[in-house]
Amino acid sequence: MTVPVFRFAPSPNGPLHLGHALSVLINADMAAETNGRMLVRIEDVDMTRARPEHERAILNDLDWLGVVYERPVRRQSEHAEDYAAALHSLVERGLIYRSFLSRTEIAAAIVAEETRSGRPWPRDPDGAPLYPSIDRDRPVGEADALAAAGRPYALRLDMRKAVRLAGSLSWQEFGDRFVGPHETIVADPSAWGDVVLAGKFAPAAYHLAVVVDDALQGVTDVVRGRDLYFATAVHRLLQTLLGLPVPRYHHHRLIIDIDGRKLSKSKGAAGLSTLRAAGLTQAEVRQMVGLAGAGVSGK
Ligand code: GLU
Repeated sequence: MTVPVFRFAPSPNGPLHLGHALSVLINADMAAETNGRMLVRIEDVDMTRARPEHERAILNDLDWLGVVYERPVRRQSEHAEDYAAALHSLVERGLIYRSFLSRTEIAAAIVAEETRSGRPWPRDPDGAPLYPSIDRDRPVGEADALAAAGRPYALRLDMRKAVRLAGSLSWQEFGDRFVGPHETIVADPSAWGDVVLAGKFAPAAYHLAVVVDDALQGVTDVVRGRDLYFATAVHRLLQTLLGLPVPRYHHHRLIIDIDGRKLSKSKGAAGLSTLRAAGLTQAEVRQMVGLAGAGVSGK
C-alpha cells in the first residue's frame, strides 16, 4: 500500500493567520491518522514577495502549533530547473505565448471590446478580467521585435489549444478526513482564460509550480482551502498536459472574519504570533478553528 503524502504549502509573504492554522492542522492530523508523511513546502517562487523573515516566522508558528513534519523543508526556489523543463515541454507543443500588455493596455482593450460588443467582458473565478487575445494573435515576428526592444513579457498558456489537446478533465473531491463518498468534479480550466505560467517575477507562476512540486514530492493528498477549489481545474489541465500523477483533493472550509470574508494576509488578519503573544495555547487555537480534540501532537 502506498503511504499517503500530505503537504502544507505557505507563501512566505506575510504572517500565518487562523486560516493557515486550520489548513496545516487538518493536514498534520490526517497524516498522523493515516501513518502518512507530512511535508512543508515554502512557496517562495515569487521572488518579489517572498521574505526570509516571513519563512522563519512561519516555521516558528508551526512549531508552536505542534505540527510534526519532515525535514528538510521543501522550497520552490530550489526547483527552477524543474519548472523550466515543464515549461519547455509546453513551449515545444506551441501552447505558450509571450504576453506584453501592461495593466493600462489590458484595461483599454477590455473597454474597447465591451463598447464594441455591448456585453461585459468575462471574468475568471477570482473576479479578474480574462486576458484579451491581442498577444495570442500577434505574429511571432512582431513579438520577437517587442522582446528585442526590451518590452517585459510573461508567458501564458494558450487555454483554447491546451483544453482541446487535454480533452475532458475532472478530479476526485473527497470529504473531510477522506471518509464518506467522494465526488467527481468536472474541471473547467477555460474559465480562467490564458493563465500566466512564468514571467520576469518568477521562473514559474503558482499554477505551474504547484503541479510540478506536488508530482516531484510524491504528494498523494492535496488538502487546502476552498479558495483554491476552482484553481484545481487549471492544475488538472497542467497535470494532463505534463503527464503528471493526479492526487486526491479535499478543499476544506475557510475561516471567515466578522464581515463574512475569508481571512487574508493583505487585509491584516490577526497573525498566529499575536495569539501566541497573548498567551493562547495550542488547544485553544484548535478550538478557535473548530477542530475537536487535542490533535496529533497531543499537547
Ligand atoms: N501557496 C498557496 C497559498 O499560500 C497554497 C498553495 C496550495 O496549497 O496549493 O495560498
